[in-house]
Amino acid sequence: MREYWRNKVAVVTGGARGQGAAITRQLLQAGAHVHVVDCLPVAHEDWDDLKTDSVHLDGELTIHEMDVRDDAAWNALQQHLSRSGTVVMGVVNNAGITGARSTVTKTDLIEWNHVLDINLTGAFLGIKYLAPLMRAGGAIVSISSTVGMTGYHSAAYSTSKWALRGLTKSAAIELASAGIRVNCICPGVVDTHMIRSNDKLFEALKGITPIGKMAHPDQIADVMFFLLGPQSSYITGADLAVDGGVTSGGIFWPIGKAVGAIQ
Ligand code: NAD
Repeated sequence: MREYWRNKVAVVTGGARGQGAAITRQLLQAGAHVHVVDCLPVAHEDWDDLKTDSVHLDGELTIHEMDVRDDAAWNALQQHLSRSGTVVMGVVNNAGITGARSTVTKTDLIEWNHVLDINLTGAFLGIKYLAPLMRAGGAIVSISSTVGMTGYHSAAYSTSKWALRGLTKSAAIELASAGIRVNCICPGVVDTHMIRSNDKLFEALKGITPIGKMAHPDQIADVMFFLLGPQSSYITGADLAVDGGVTSGGIFWPIGKAVGAIQ
């Protein structure tokens, strides 16, 4: 099935590092031309690993230094791809931030809008501008979170991730007749810059996964790759938890441990 991507085009947002870089590597390995959209300056060291790896992979990497909130930039990217007759077969709306991780009563409006603009509006713009360049068989995957399935203290972040699931379902029913599928993934705890940037959070998150460890970005990218390709041809509008059991365990996993019923 990896052959499917040879010379096909995909767009990945937030692909400089972390999970976005992981799916970009997989697509490049399969021979795709991957357009990576990220606001990090191209010279930033966080790009280094992907740039180095891409040299040894089959596909082609094109970097667009761009903010996913920027409507005009999305329009320009659409025009650029359209002029060259590019057909986009995969879109990954992965760019995201946590923001200040504050509660409903402590979040000011500027912070609220900032997080929603990047995490939600960025994905909306990605679908709006790239779907017209897609053809039957194409697939869109957005990266929500398990905090888009439960309550979470970080109000704006959690709300943005819940809303991404709604955006996914709305786009899925709109684009179904064109043969374009739209799904989202709800990762649990993934070992990336996002959680390592906060020591307290990192420590707290270490023990919440029934499977016993946080995910490697490649484990999330494997599921993105599946949802982007023909092996998932009958799945659309889904939100798939890829969380090592976090949401299915809920509060009862630590309770089972506390009473000694499970290891
Ligand atoms: P990361 O911080 O390593 O990567 C995020 C990428 O998005 C970075 O390259 C960053 O530069 C880019 N980005 C941020 N704002 C942008 C903007 N305005 N325009 C363009 N690019 C922008 O984190 P990650 O863990 O790889 O996160 C990827 C996605 O997964 C995010 O949407 C995040 O919310 C989600 N997620 C992460 C976890 C986790 O535990 N790490 C869990 C669930 C969901």
